[in-house]
Amino acid sequence: MNIISRAEWGARAPRARSTVTWGDRREVVVHYSEGPTTQTVRSIQDFHMGPDRRWSDVGYNFLVDVQGRIYEGRGWLTVGAHAPDHNSSGIGICMIGRDGDATPAAERSIRAIYDEACRRAGRSLAKLGHRDVYETSCPGDQLWNWVHAGMPTDNVDEQEDDMPDYVSVGMSESQDLPPGEWVTINWGKEFSDSAHHHWDKGGPSLIVGPARYNLTANVRVEGLAVGTELQARVVEVAEEGGKVETGPIAEYAASKGATFLHYNVAADTVRKGYRVRFQVAQYGTTPAKVTDGSAKALAWGTA
Ligand SMILES: [Zn+2]
Repeated sequence: MNIISRAEWGARAPRARSTVTWGDRREVVVHYSEGPTTQTVRSIQDFHMGPDRRWSDVGYNFLVDVQGRIYEGRGWLTVGAHAPDHNSSGIGICMIGRDGDATPAAERSIRAIYDEACRRAGRSLAKLGHRDVYETSCPGDQLWNWVHAGMPTDNVDEQEDDMPDYVSVGMSESQDLPPGEWVTINWGKEFSDSAHHHWDKGGPSLIVGPARYNLTANVRVEGLAVGTELQARVVEVAEEGGKVETGPIAEYAASKGATFLHYNVAADTVRKGYRVRFQVAQYGTTPAKVTDGSAKALAWGTA
């Protein structure tokens, strides 16, 4: 959850503040600003601190706009000014807009703040609209109904996206590694591949796009003179035609006896219609062999 800090939105310093502990927090209270969705957080703060209200700060603990951006108001544990008798027990979240303006993005963000508050409190907090605790139309029928439906969000895709596919493969036989040539490693052993990324079983593909992925490959190379230069890389190969895009290249030097190459891609994406493969090259003068290897990858599918 990304929260736009007070410094980032240009907040005035509070005139005073008092804090509570998570033990005091029992509920989240949802509000609307009842102004245009283009209202700035600073203008709301100016109104709350100005002659009409004379509060010490913007009244809410957090504010959310219709794009789903989250703004820090008083924050998690400062007593708010949003609902009499519920400013210590309740975390006030304000949607910037009027009744009917709440978007799925705004709802997801309010829900994210609620979930984070429960996590920090270590228990479930009540879900309330302002009108549940005060004589007011706030937060409007749309948001009030949403709060009392349990704050549902349409994030089914995101939830699925959070569970990566796991691919774990190994080499089943040595491969020749002639000098000055990129050799694509074949993975003859399959330990895990629930989503069939290694679909050409026994072949080279590790991840089938579209996906975000990370990948680790370890191979053992034998037959090289000490100090011989080696390289490893991933390539993304188009299913249609031979189009190839190369990923980051890592460099190694051969050691005495067998040389172990540890290759890692921390985060990358592969587009639809492309497959990720792993390649090794050596720049000595005599042939060598890749005698063993394994690769593990996590892939998050993208729509
Ligand atoms: Zn309210």
